[in-house]
Amino acid sequence: MFVDRARILLKAGKGGDGKRSFRRSKGQPKGGPDGGDGGRGGDVILAADDGINTLIDFRGVYEWKAEDGEPGGSNSRTGADADARLIRVPPGTMVFGEESGELLADLGPGDSQVIARGGFGGFGNEHFKSATNQAPRNAVPGHPGEVVALRLELKVIAEVGLVGLPNAGKSSLLKTVTRADPKIADYPFTTLSPQLGIASLDRGRRLVIADIPGLIEGAADGAGLGHDFLRHVERTRVIVHVLDVMPPDGSRPADNYRAIRRELMDYSPQLAEKREIIALNKLDLLGSETEWPEAIKSLRAELQLGPDHETVGISGGIGAGTDELLDKVWHMLHDAEEEPEGWPKAQA
Ligand code: GDP
Ligand code: MG
Repeated sequence: MFVDRARILLKAGKGGDGKRSFRRSKGQPKGGPDGGDGGRGGDVILAADDGINTLIDFRGVYEWKAEDGEPGGSNSRTGADADARLIRVPPGTMVFGEESGELLADLGPGDSQVIARGGFGGFGNEHFKSATNQAPRNAVPGHPGEVVALRLELKVIAEVGLVGLPNAGKSSLLKTVTRADPKIADYPFTTLSPQLGIASLDRGRRLVIADIPGLIEGAADGAGLGHDFLRHVERTRVIVHVLDVMPPDGSRPADNYRAIRRELMDYSPQLAEKREIIALNKLDLLGSETEWPEAIKSLRAELQLGPDHETVGISGGIGAGTDELLDKVWHMLHDAEEEPEGWPKAQA
């Protein structure tokens, strides 16, 4: 399982201070106390939101703070309560206390929970008025909000798996299309740990991509990959099959494609039956871009691909064609669904 982690500090708002004040009006030269109470400080709430699938937004932002409550005023005016600060996290986020290690929340889709409570407002002096004390002078400062240090943990499911022969260019492609890679937990089964990255497309779209080097390279070496590894990899929904257009050993791309397909079939029929897109890679080696369509065409002909079998020409190393690749993958994953709310429909 790929685990995405973040450490954050939540600071709820402080309560507003109570006011010390006395009524002053023409009719009442010696008016009574009229200092109002302070408002409550804002809570910090974590809410699981379907539109978010990683903890990447928390990288580099440690403190998340809610507003303080307003102080009380004269004329018995109560200070306004501060709004809660809503922090959106991906569904499946487990929230642990940093120090206690205690599980504070396990947020499923639609769940939300107050994690840090805002402080109460302080009482204004009017609050202390009584039969025996007609003119109390004391007002109370607002109470501090809770400060909670957290560790967030999310088990990330990669939607897209990269497969291909060693040196096909999988790692380079992943590196080019993903700006940041979340920290990945040590993978207990093998030194061939899957690399995970998050590609940001335009219009807020994101893809979680796993490079699956172990699958073929490890299987061929008899590295003995565990069942858990396989189980997680099998949850990817689309395979990008990375194919070197001009392998240094002189082998033919079409033969290499078939070899990987055979291994996939042997190793995991479940994985093999996922939708696949072929990324014919390293096309920069062909020289002119005008030769790219021809290379794709002859590969398609040789493999006798049907119209539903997508192919894209790319140079993962220099990032050419990769936008188109990601866009196609996105549509394979999401065409049955609505576009994210608020975004215009994709142009065909
Ligand atoms: P992996 O084994 O599939 O992860 O392949 P790597 O990403 O490690 O790449 C293998 C080799 O191919 C490295 O020497 C890369 O520099 C080279 N390579 C990767 N992508 C490209 C590309 O788009 N064009 C060219 N010319 N070389 C590439
Ligand atoms: Mg690699």
